[in-house]
Amino acid sequence: MRTVHSVADLRAALREARRTERTIGLVPTMGALHEGHLSLVRAARAASDVVVVSLFVNPTQFNETADLDSYPRDEARDAAAAEAAGADLLFAPPVDEVYPPGFATTVRVAGLTEHLEGELRGTAHFDGVATVVAKLLNMVGPDVAYFGQKDAQQAAVIRRLVRDLDLPVRVEICPTVREPDGLALSSRNVHLRGADRERALALKRGLDAVAAAYAAGERDPQAIARAGRAAMAQLGVEPEYLALVRPDDLRPVETLDGAGEVLVAVAARVGPTRLIDNTILRPPARVRTSPTSSGDAAAAAPAG
Ligand code: AMP
Repeated sequence: MRTVHSVADLRAALREARRTERTIGLVPTMGALHEGHLSLVRAARAASDVVVVSLFVNPTQFNETADLDSYPRDEARDAAAAEAAGADLLFAPPVDEVYPPGFATTVRVAGLTEHLEGELRGTAHFDGVATVVAKLLNMVGPDVAYFGQKDAQQAAVIRRLVRDLDLPVRVEICPTVREPDGLALSSRNVHLRGADRERALALKRGLDAVAAAYAAGERDPQAIARAGRAAMAQLGVEPEYLALVRPDDLRPVETLDGAGEVLVAVAARVGPTRLIDNTILRPPARVRTSPTSSGDAAAAAPAG
């Protein structure tokens, strides 16, 4: 695996692959690579001829300087992990390579970025994400770009960005990778100290309670959200939000009857650490009942 730090070197490194029409997969990251990131690299490896991992702690998407300053950074460790997972090229630009003096352009995905994370962190957060992702896609020119379901709102923003700007790339969203006890892997988990590590399970417990209420037939979003909040309260955690929204435009869901897939997004502070997680509620599959099926079997698998 090679590491490059400039856009010129990146393009030179990809020139031959482009000329010979080999497929390029891109995994954008902010480093501090864990199994969640590496699952994306492996997905890219399995499907692309050339795998590029970008490593850039994007200052414009941080709303707190302290969060930016304390963000874990270790390029040598990340390079070794990316290479072991199958990356061919690591693109690790310095800040002024991405934002040279006089940089003046912002990409904003209106409508998807004001609520949930945008409400807590300010819309500048997703403006920063959308702008840097648009730039990375233009710098690398991948056929496919890989992102994690862990950041569900970000995934929706990027899908819309790519669609609205006709960017010639396919967006792949990969499943959330978790610790054995259910905690979603995150670069911020290193900040969880002592009892906070146990309390951090509140997010997954809340989502599990939501899924259980839905599976038990509850269709009122407020009642479902209450079940999630109650499970979180048992670990002493109150969410900043626990919201049932449509996965594509992130609008709140009024009823789950006939709603299709619903994204349940949750955020909470656990000690000094801010965590997010989510799950998707999927309507039960329709089961075709044969003439010999009993009424009970049909009732156990209600049509969605
Ligand atoms: P980050 O470095 O936090 O910007 O994350 C880089 C990419 O990894 C994003 O597309 C994230 O959604 C994804 N990612 C982060 N954590 C996980 C996880 N636990 N499982 C799957 N993907 C993840």
